[in-house]
Amino acid sequence: MRLFAALLLCLALPAHAEGFITRLLNKPVPGGVAVVQLGNGAQAPTARYQGKPVLVVKEDGRDWIAIVGIPLGTKAGPQRIEVNDGRSLAFDVGPRSYREQHIKLANTRQVNPLPQDLKRIDRELAEQTTAYRRFSPGTPSNLLFDKPVNGPLSSPFGLRRFFNGEERNPHSGLDFAVGAGTPIKAPAAGKVILIGDYFFNGKTVFVDHGQGLISMFCHMSKVDVKLGQQLPRGGVVGRVGATGRATGPHMHWNVSLNDVRVDPAIFIGAYKH
Ligand SMILES: [Zn+2]
Repeated sequence: MRLFAALLLCLALPAHAEGFITRLLNKPVPGGVAVVQLGNGAQAPTARYQGKPVLVVKEDGRDWIAIVGIPLGTKAGPQRIEVNDGRSLAFDVGPRSYREQHIKLANTRQVNPLPQDLKRIDRELAEQTTAYRRFSPGTPSNLLFDKPVNGPLSSPFGLRRFFNGEERNPHSGLDFAVGAGTPIKAPAAGKVILIGDYFFNGKTVFVDHGQGLISMFCHMSKVDVKLGQQLPRGGVVGRVGATGRATGPHMHWNVSLNDVRVDPAIFIGAYKH
């Protein structure tokens, strides 16, 4: 009986070996990434998750895979993507818990903005949301990203944040503890699609790596790129700083897929469950 059960388990496994991208990126948790196998058709399929187009690439020259960003607020359980050939494919989201972080800010206006700030914040949010929703053609140059700076990781993605005791949005990216002025390098090739100087994020640059995979760097002291500029992998985006709502100089990096902010640690092989 036990042998029979083991046999069934083997049969349930996928017929092909998982490729490098799947092993690297498939972390199907809230705030993580799901890799869904799409088969090996001659034509590149397209797929949507929650109505938004998702990144589709060919893995190891064989099968098409969809790389799906899972929103932080997603409950554990089944989710689906829709493929353009009519298939609806399921994937399972497992649980992940995120720690709390308590931060003291002397500038209380950054915790409870004034009415005139709210107008600015809304406008800046809309601008950034539009950038995250971009879906340009082309395959990212590399899915195993280079670290944008050399330095230790500090605040992880997804921390539940309390500023002066009041809960605010969770940490949308990954922080690196590096000094002011350190050059920030593009983790993959991409195009500069937005530059801003924002209330919360300070000096900010958005880099589009293709098909909805987008990096955002903020709190910078200096921006070294122009809007529309094409950056090679490793091209300098700007310098580390402490502009916007920051307690000191550090590098904050967001990674977005299908307009969902996901854990950047996944893309540099530093994911910890
Ligand atoms: Zn941060």
